[in-house]
Amino acid sequence: MTEHLMTINGEQQSSPDSFAVINPSTGEPFARAPEATAAQLDDAMAGAAQAFRSWKRDDDARREALRLAAKAVNESVPQIATLLTQEQGKPLNEAMFEVMGVGMWLQYYADLEVEREILQDDDAAFVEVVRRPIGVVAAIAPWNFPLLLSSWKIAPALRAGNTVVLKPSPYTPLSSLAMVEVLNQALPPGVLNIVTGGDALGAAMTAHPTPRKVSFTGSISAGKKVAIASAADLKRVTLELGGNDPAIVLDDADPAVVGKQLFDAAFTNNGQTCVAVKRVYVPESLHDAVVEALVAEANSVVVGDGMDEATKLGPIQNRPQFDRVTRLVDGALSSGARAAAGGAALDRPGYFFAPTILTDASDGTEIVDEEQFGPALPVIAYRDLDDAIERANATTFGLGASVWATDTERGEAVARQLDAGSAWVNTHAALAPNLPFGGLKWSGVGVENGPWGYKGFTDMQLLNRRKK
Ligand code: NAD
Repeated sequence: MTEHLMTINGEQQSSPDSFAVINPSTGEPFARAPEATAAQLDDAMAGAAQAFRSWKRDDDARREALRLAAKAVNESVPQIATLLTQEQGKPLNEAMFEVMGVGMWLQYYADLEVEREILQDDDAAFVEVVRRPIGVVAAIAPWNFPLLLSSWKIAPALRAGNTVVLKPSPYTPLSSLAMVEVLNQALPPGVLNIVTGGDALGAAMTAHPTPRKVSFTGSISAGKKVAIASAADLKRVTLELGGNDPAIVLDDADPAVVGKQLFDAAFTNNGQTCVAVKRVYVPESLHDAVVEALVAEANSVVVGDGMDEATKLGPIQNRPQFDRVTRLVDGALSSGARAAAGGAALDRPGYFFAPTILTDASDGTEIVDEEQFGPALPVIAYRDLDDAIERANATTFGLGASVWATDTERGEAVARQLDAGSAWVNTHAALAPNLPFGGLKWSGVGVENGPWGYKGFTDMQLLNRRKK
């Protein structure tokens, strides 16, 4: 079985230990990834610290390197995307979009014009707010969009002058190993390192004395551990965590149109998206029509191996997640919910689950209150809009939320009342390199993307030169 290699301080490395990577379409292992040793983690950190000394000095050189890195990744889309589909399960065309997204984010941060912040420049003094790189960044990524979400860290961190040690999820290490190898064609040794391993390796990174910043994307429970570990030596943290995004349909919406849009917003990447729609509130008058439109989509979408061209939804990415979705759906059904579509795993190898639309599940059911992160969507009828808004907000999550309406100004008025880092009207998860993205409440700390994401990888220094 092929073993893929880590890049540490510019060198390709294996390890005495390795772990199997499973193809979720078969449930079988198909390759191996190195289990980084403590010494290799130390080497990666030391290499990054050494590279930081020169990398931080020349912004123009960094912009040029990021441009070349974007070009290198754009030229390697098919190879990296194939690995991504094999280990993650998503359809190949979506995997290719994800790799192209990496190129887009690198290009965006290469081109970003960072305005100087001069507060005073007169006869008395020159005063400027200077944005300084923080140092070595520990970047820890999840399995749902392993490449894109890593690039949200790598691109701004490197542009700001930091160096990076990346750890992908143990479920999806291969595409990240390939991506980092390609990016390193354009970067000096030590600027971007990758180590692979399990959750303990992530914990070792957050406890390591070298990094001065941890940029983490993953679950709320792991995010809290990262925050606690980082507090020990006051590392800076950005946390992009889980969501339980509500979508509220208003009574003037067209159910057929909205049903199709909501299906896409809930089931893209098989529902394994932090900002997927995870619960839908519909006025009683539209409930049956919206459910009918969602069911039509669920029953016609092609579920299969991501390498098959016809596939629109792949498998659930890993066994524990498959078990979790199964448990949440079973729990809802046994407490009175109805599966208007799907409702169970598909009878075939791999982690396939029928796209599921649940009715008659209400707040208080686990699948409504918790993040399901899979292909199952509860639809909840409401009578009173204010009550629906209150229920949408009655949670510790606060990532995204959307409102669906024909009168978009009325939709906006509702969106402004939703406690979420992003509030959309007639769209959901509309993300771009220049738009800030982050969570309120337990969904995160800090934001990524745009100039705000860049600033998250800097410390502020006040420089005050008295002239007299
Ligand atoms: P996870 O928290 O299990 O793992 C994420 C990463 O953290 C992995 O690399 C893992 O090995 C590592 N890790 C685990 N425990 C750690 C610890 N104690 N210290 C340091 N690192 C540790 O999450 P997952 O299952 O890979 O991803 C799914 C979750 O991520 C969902 O909750 C989803 O909503 C969330 N997510 C959030 C965003 C966002 O931008 N807000 C984006 C994608 C996914």
